[in-house]
Amino acid sequence: MPEEMVAARAPEMASRGAQQVDVAVVGAGFAGLYLLHRLRKAGFTAIALDSANDVGGTWYWNRYPGARCDIQTIDYSYTFDPELESAWTWSEKYATQPEILRYLGFVADRYDLRHDIRFGTKVTAATWDETADRWLLTTDNGAPVSCRHYIMATGCLSAPKAPEIDGVKDFKGEVYFTGRWPHEEVKLAGKRVAVIGTGSSGIQSIPLIAEQAAHLTVFQRTASFALPAHNGPSPADRVTLLEQDRAAYREQARWSLVGVPWPQQTDVSWQLSDAERRERFEKAWAAGDLAYILTQLWADQGVDIDGNALVAELVREKIRGIVKDPETAAALSPHDHPFGAKRPCLDTNYYATYNRPNVTLVNLRQEPIKAITASGIVTDKRSVDVDVIVFATGFDAMTGAIMAVHPITGRAGKSLSSAWAQGPQTYLGLTVAGFPNLFMITGPGSPSVLSNMAVSIEQHADWVVDRLAAMREAGFTTIDATETAQAAWAQHMADCSMMTLHRLANTWYTGANVPGKAQGVMPYTGGLGPYRSICNEVVSRGMLGFKLTGPNVPEQVNDGEVVRLQPDVRLVLGMLAEMNLPPIESLGAQGARDFVNEFNKGRPAGRPVGEVGAGMLQGADGPLPYRLYRPATPGPHPIVVYFHGGGWVLGDELSDDPFCRDMCRRTGMIFVSVGYRHAPEHRFPAAAEDGYAATRWIAEHAADLGGKPGPVLVAGWSAGANIATVTCQLARDRGGPQIAGQLLVCPVTDCRFDRQSYTDNAVGYFLTRALMFWFWDIYCSPADRTDPRASPLRGQLAGLPPAFVVTCEFDPLRDEGVAYAEALAAAGVPVRQLQAGGHFHSSFVMVDVVITGVSGRLQMAEALQRFAGLQVTPPHAIAAE
Ligand code: NAP
Repeated sequence: MPEEMVAARAPEMASRGAQQVDVAVVGAGFAGLYLLHRLRKAGFTAIALDSANDVGGTWYWNRYPGARCDIQTIDYSYTFDPELESAWTWSEKYATQPEILRYLGFVADRYDLRHDIRFGTKVTAATWDETADRWLLTTDNGAPVSCRHYIMATGCLSAPKAPEIDGVKDFKGEVYFTGRWPHEEVKLAGKRVAVIGTGSSGIQSIPLIAEQAAHLTVFQRTASFALPAHNGPSPADRVTLLEQDRAAYREQARWSLVGVPWPQQTDVSWQLSDAERRERFEKAWAAGDLAYILTQLWADQGVDIDGNALVAELVREKIRGIVKDPETAAALSPHDHPFGAKRPCLDTNYYATYNRPNVTLVNLRQEPIKAITASGIVTDKRSVDVDVIVFATGFDAMTGAIMAVHPITGRAGKSLSSAWAQGPQTYLGLTVAGFPNLFMITGPGSPSVLSNMAVSIEQHADWVVDRLAAMREAGFTTIDATETAQAAWAQHMADCSMMTLHRLANTWYTGANVPGKAQGVMPYTGGLGPYRSICNEVVSRGMLGFKLTGPNVPEQVNDGEVVRLQPDVRLVLGMLAEMNLPPIESLGAQGARDFVNEFNKGRPAGRPVGEVGAGMLQGADGPLPYRLYRPATPGPHPIVVYFHGGGWVLGDELSDDPFCRDMCRRTGMIFVSVGYRHAPEHRFPAAAEDGYAATRWIAEHAADLGGKPGPVLVAGWSAGANIATVTCQLARDRGGPQIAGQLLVCPVTDCRFDRQSYTDNAVGYFLTRALMFWFWDIYCSPADRTDPRASPLRGQLAGLPPAFVVTCEFDPLRDEGVAYAEALAAAGVPVRQLQAGGHFHSSFVMVDVVITGVSGRLQMAEALQRFAGLQVTPPHAIAAE
């Protein structure tokens, strides 16, 4: 038989004698146990395999002193069975590892799961058998397993990472890894102990080791943020909340961002005084709750570097208050990553431990470890002899345990390690294209470690088992993600990662802790609730992004991208849809203005600038109000004349206040927002002529306004961008003023409605085609619309100031904006474009709501600075340690 045929038949031959099941689950921790239970209930034959000798997963292995959970136990529990919930009561707010292990054993017994688990059995390889449409798993103990579906429930933090320090093998004393702690008692009393690593495992174990050891030397490379757990009984208020309405509490957790039911914080840091912020922080410090301190201080703490720096400094202040030696306190204070970008730790007496006479901290940033020798650890500056070394050096997280089954061979002989050579590629964090019928629970690309794992695990297991049941019902035997869906998920992951600060830290979240590992934020940062809704959407849209096949049914390929919007745009549009608002054009002009005013009251307050002033300027036919935003830096500053959006009908000089403030701060320029006249009271060309007159007046009064005399700049959004560019045309034709550049954000440039974006985005993205019709009708009669003062695309474009044109993918105005930029370029005007993918018409003016708009505004600010001949401000950089 030729070799290829032998190879092709290898799985078939190996599967003879294999244990046959519908589903094989690897891992018998939180995820594996629940999967077994669900699979059985759904009528599948299933088996779980685990290299450990009992259930527990991560809680089986992590037995080091002080090991506890860091999500409150009332939240870190199964919720699928109310009877189970009432049958178990946790003894503490944060249970110890032995108690959690007992709980998982209790669950295994209650649902009689153990007899379907093969303990002490490591899965060594997995191969997809193309002919049988089954997986074959080989093991290091007993028969192989042949299964239709193969589920990795191996946990995110199960593969300890090698310590990567020369000489480990030479050490003659005892060596322990926190992630593989012995089952028998480890006696440390009277011994000289070294702990390497100060992540959660180190921080939990160090205080207890210090109590036993003769001397403890802690080797710290990166300082972590830690806060006191204040362990004890579960807090009465949380227990009451749970018990008042258990189902509602659990449901709220399922739809929350992190899997713990805290409300979404809406206050932003700059709205709070120092005293108010301190009060909130003290409350969080006293609460001893990670989910609380990560979400409940102020809305910008996890998404904005300035809002985050406030928290970080308050934690550092606490460290200085606890640790007596200032040098040690300084070494323990993290400066190289935002608070929360690396998982903060919950501790019991951690910082105070450094006040003990038998504890020494070695700061490896100042004296790196050179080697481990037979007797201890040698750094650049000293040699520390020890009897015991504890490696609390962490894990090859997220992918390590999956890749530990090696090789996993999918379609066409492709291995997972080659598919993931550049980093993990998944669809929903659950599946991998080319690896049919393989599922991962809390895999890379899912919220996993950024959420309460208990809640994430239930969501994943439910989703997978429900899908398997639906496939069986429909006669499908294979399911495989499409390449398109997977690539779009990668894009969505990248978009999400721009919302939070996780990308700014080198951590196990990004793969940075393992030398040579591909880098990138691995967990889904868009939040658990949004993630759940996306998984549900995949199903409601007919298993979007999956190919399903079966022996007796036609193949179903529903290729596509489940999320094309930016993650926060998706949330905003979802909220707007839920509000079920009447069409704005149905409200009449005044009704629409009232609506916009009301709507704007709910947005985050704009950020502070140096000074905000108000006054009157001369418009085309009388005085107009203006609002002036001055930077805090010494002037005189260049002036940007700004025109608000609102279809020439709505808004005023205040209505884009957060945008003007943000741009004033980013550019270091004065923004003067003009209250030009509106239709229907003042129809075309009132707004256009006011724009021109106001710009002229501002240029003439630049010095009086504290601005730099000379050319001004113009900017606008939507109809305001229309006025801005019309102003440039008029200024060129009427002998001034001089304009140094124009920023046009989603501009109206033409009265044609037949461009593709008017069809693609006619409804569903807030600015609708019908609303644009209404705006045009109110502003301008059809006969006037081709006038370049209404449709600047029809004007002469040569000789206009340089432009930066921003368009958004999901905007009816997209294509006329692009057409304008192209026409400017064709006319010889220097022009740059930002075509913002996944954004909608309001993305960039919804400051501090659409967080992913920040990078676009950074580019706008740079463009304005270049136009004005200023030095471009670099984006915020995190101070290196
Ligand atoms: P970790 O957070 O990755 O911490 C590992 C520590 O070892 C870091 O301080 C790291 O420094 C240091 N390290 C690694 N290699 C080193 C080397 N060659 N030389 C010197 N230092 C080295 O790992 P972990 O503490 O095990 O925690 C991992 C995660 O598990 C946690 O973030 C948490 O999600 C979970 N966990 C939770 C709990 C809980 O409270 N429930 C307890 C333990 C673990 P660098 O940062 O400089 O790489």
